[in-house]
Amino acid sequence: MALNFDLTEEQNLLRQAVRDFAEREIAPLAEELDEKEEFSVELTRQMGELGLLGCFVPMRYGGSEMGYTSYAIAVEELARVDGSQAATIAAGNSLGIGPIYYYGTDEQRREWLPRLCSGEMLAAFGLTEPNAGSDAGASRTRAELDGDRWIINGSKIFITNAANPLTGVVIVQAVTGGQGRGKPELSCLIVPRDAPGFTAREMKKKMMWRASNTAELFFEDCVVPKENLLGKRGDGFQQMLSTLDGGRLSIAAMGLGGAQGSFEMALEYANNRVQFGRPIASFQTIAFKLADMATEIELARNLLYKACWLRDENRRFSKEAAMAKLYCSEVMHRCVDHAVQIHGGYGLMKEYKIERFYRDQRLLEIGEGTSEIQRIVIARNIGAAGRAI
Ligand SMILES: Cc1cc2nc3c(=O)[nH]c(=O)nc-3n(C[C@H](O)[C@H](O)[C@H](O)COP(=O)(O)OP(=O)(O)OC[C@H]3O[C@@H](n4cnc5c(N)ncnc54)[C@H](O)[C@@H]3O)c2cc1C
Repeated sequence: MALNFDLTEEQNLLRQAVRDFAEREIAPLAEELDEKEEFSVELTRQMGELGLLGCFVPMRYGGSEMGYTSYAIAVEELARVDGSQAATIAAGNSLGIGPIYYYGTDEQRREWLPRLCSGEMLAAFGLTEPNAGSDAGASRTRAELDGDRWIINGSKIFITNAANPLTGVVIVQAVTGGQGRGKPELSCLIVPRDAPGFTAREMKKKMMWRASNTAELFFEDCVVPKENLLGKRGDGFQQMLSTLDGGRLSIAAMGLGGAQGSFEMALEYANNRVQFGRPIASFQTIAFKLADMATEIELARNLLYKACWLRDENRRFSKEAAMAKLYCSEVMHRCVDHAVQIHGGYGLMKEYKIERFYRDQRLLEIGEGTSEIQRIVIARNIGAAGRAI
């Protein structure tokens, strides 16, 4: 059979296990953690014990080796309940563990992956800088080789999982030289949390993902051994691009899960809220909103799972990952907007979970490449981008 939409038995069991965990352990805490802007060490450890870190890492390095489709299902189920916990897992896997697993030496993998995959510690990916966001190649952070050590100077901003009690290591993209014709040579370095000259400061007062940990990083003559270069010198830009390709699958999964959660809340509310003597779900304008949400969620799920399947099959998936990230995050935007509308005034009150979903959604169209950048990636892949982009 060439076309089959059935998930495997393991994938169905995984979905149920993560759903049960999210409803039992995360749901009762999500509102309070959001209100207090508090990262949860305990929930992160529990998610690690469930095997949700190291999803695509082989068991010999401590991973759960479940593959990208299963990884997306797990993130989807977390995001159905809470965007912040889903963010910790999505960034922990795709941005933290991913670069070490895909580009690290066997020694680097053995040193870091077992602890990262168990949830004992988290890794972060430091790419964005105050003056280098979408234009990530414009990094100013510099690393200079001085004998047998790298000296790093510069700063990073908005880095997920980089300043909490579990943070163990940060992968940092830095300029390591010139490549000629004014182009910088970019490389990635592994910077342990306790490296001299490295500090991380938590960023507070976020609108969204308030229980996810976001940090500013500062490198002042920060010293790491020469061996902490990740992969080959000068490969940093390529490593960053392909790390983001994988990361987009998990952001898409967050959009899908958040859309699903919003839809379920809206459906339940619409069936219970009575106006004019009838449940509001019986008014066609409300019922059609729910029908549109269900249709778009179905399409989003198919698009994302197809992109994950391509990744699992080791086929090209950049275009599909960008499409899935773009579409799933915009589907969540529309779903959460409909869901708030269906809740009426109550949807604007913090007592109703939909308010948190409405805020959490907004990052998905910005992080790991904005929607504008996804359209550029897709345009390039379909041969539509001119030289100007
Ligand atoms: C909560 C949070 C967590 C994050 N986690 C991480 C992390 O773990 N690691 C990390 O490295 N980064 C992280 N980021 C950073 C994130 O990836 C960037 O915010 C994002 O890439 C956009 O960069 P910017 O904010 O500098 O916006 P800018 O690049 O300044 O963009 C501003 C606007 O201009 C548009 N724009 C820019 N260039 C173009 C163009 N060529 N064509 C059309 N429009 C364009 C953008 O689409 C956007 O609308 C995080 C951000 C947040 C808020």
